[in-house]
Amino acid sequence: MSQPQSVVEMRDLTMQWGNRPVLDRVNLTMQPGERLVVVGPSGAGKSTVLRLLAGLQLPTSGSLHLFGTPQSYLRLDQIDPPDVRLVFQNPALLASLTVEENVGFLLREKAQLSNTEIRERVDACLEAVGLYDVAHLYPGELSGGMQKRVSFARALIDDPERGDQAMPLLLYDEPTAGLDPVACTRIEDLIVKTTTVAKGCSVVVSHVRSTIERSAERVLMLYGGQFQWEGSVDDFRCTDNPYVEQFRTGSLRGPMQPAEH
Ligand code: ADP
Repeated sequence: MSQPQSVVEMRDLTMQWGNRPVLDRVNLTMQPGERLVVVGPSGAGKSTVLRLLAGLQLPTSGSLHLFGTPQSYLRLDQIDPPDVRLVFQNPALLASLTVEENVGFLLREKAQLSNTEIRERVDACLEAVGLYDVAHLYPGELSGGMQKRVSFARALIDDPERGDQAMPLLLYDEPTAGLDPVACTRIEDLIVKTTTVAKGCSVVVSHVRSTIERSAERVLMLYGGQFQWEGSVDDFRCTDNPYVEQFRTGSLRGPMQPAEH
């Protein structure tokens, strides 16, 4: 059997603002079905990783391939963009549209489907995230938790023109920041479920311990422009790597120190 194509391939990728590299010649390969979490202190460059994958910015040097295709243009300028879906920290729903219109937005814009077909697809996605009879409501009529579920349903919607081979890359930016522990658990389950239902691959950025441990299988620790450590969630719990240990314990002592100004 041939080796499946990598979903993400970063090669010697550098991302620089002015003279300062936020990512400094990093390498990363992700295979289909993988669930990855990127951790690290604030300012380490975690959102930068997501923005690169989302096509919102381009590397200063090195290369990024998604699904085997080199990424040389911003996503908006791409004629045949890769299937990458970003779930924001806040649900970012359009307040003047109903839940159905929000979730089916892309299909209405792009796909040649009847209203009934779109409705069926939207309902299936809402059901997958445990929402029933809300399609006609406006986001303002839902609780915060339900709005968040709607944003996950939106990430699930499939453009039929992509065919059955479609395998999205799902990006979750701090999906559980500021939530209580029980709400966190629900969202973590949803991340796993959404990624599985979409038959995709996911990159989660989080500093919430339970989210790191429950939503991913592989952990990358980012600091000083480099992936300082990488391993399984089980290894993350017990490794004595000084970066991971400092992150786990929240200690002021260790290799991660505030930048000198
Ligand atoms: P994290 O998500 O880990 O908190 P970010 O990826 O948001 O970190 O940012 C990494 C670093 O890049 C930060 O020091 C930030 O100030 C810097 N940075 C991000 N965007 C810009 C920009 N547009 N211009 C200059 N510096 C930026």
